[in-house]
Amino acid sequence: MDFTLSEWVNLAGEGSLADAAVKQQAEETGMTVEAVRATMHSHLCCMQEAVQSGLDEKLRSVSGLSGGQAALFLKRMQEGKLLGGRLLGKAEVYAMATAECNACMGKIVAAPTAGACGILPGTILAMMEESDVSEEQAVDALFVAAAVGQSIATQASISGAEGGCQAECGSAAAMAAAALAYLEGGTPQQCADAAAFAIMNLLGLVCDPVGGLVEVPCVYRNVGSCGVAFTAADMVLSGIRCPIAPDEVILAMKEVGDALPASLRETGDGGCAACASVRARLKANTL
Ligand code: SF4
Repeated sequence: MDFTLSEWVNLAGEGSLADAAVKQQAEETGMTVEAVRATMHSHLCCMQEAVQSGLDEKLRSVSGLSGGQAALFLKRMQEGKLLGGRLLGKAEVYAMATAECNACMGKIVAAPTAGACGILPGTILAMMEESDVSEEQAVDALFVAAAVGQSIATQASISGAEGGCQAECGSAAAMAAAALAYLEGGTPQQCADAAAFAIMNLLGLVCDPVGGLVEVPCVYRNVGSCGVAFTAADMVLSGIRCPIAPDEVILAMKEVGDALPASLRETGDGGCAACASVRARLKANTL
């Protein structure tokens, strides 16, 4: 069954959005609640492994465009020099590691897509290491994120080719924002509002992969979108209500995506992909 965000909020009622999502998944798949949770736990383990392989300083993609950058980022974090502090910094480092792991053909969890695979693991794993979030709580948070992702996928899109990067990194940031709000004790409505705030902040983001490769600007957008997720969660946890119904924000994302020209929907013809320096390097095969 597909649900809108407001339906998810109603389904959760006075209870937890995570429990509602687990129950729904069990009913839909015919699996036990324990089996459904075990599957999500295996995804969490895969996210941890992806971060570790992405932090290898020797990692390089076939194109040479990415790899080894997360290791540089990690070094600065370990020196205590990241401007946003350790929690956000670690989320960003892990997001970059995961995105670089993907660019180097490593195994990742599409969350919701391979291009936007770093944002959700980055935020959740940072919360586990820096904010005493248990594995069980992290699994719950992934179910909250999954509910949000399902709502966006069915009402709008999670494909860059269809809706631009707002549909990939925007959706991932929305999922992460809801998960963060949940982990900090937010209500189901606050989780939905956090998702909407994240989408609002990335509305209109175009899909413009250089050379058609999911590397530039994808890797860097995974990093930046973590900040959007934390900001969105912080706003709702401060008591700020989203002035637009979250589902309406999702529908606005669809409308914007539909209006984007083909050059800005994963064709590699516009945006960053069309920059003269990039085109020259592509032509000379020196990317
Ligand atoms: S720029 Fe396009 S390919 Fe890259 S992450 Fe965004 S949607 Fe995916």
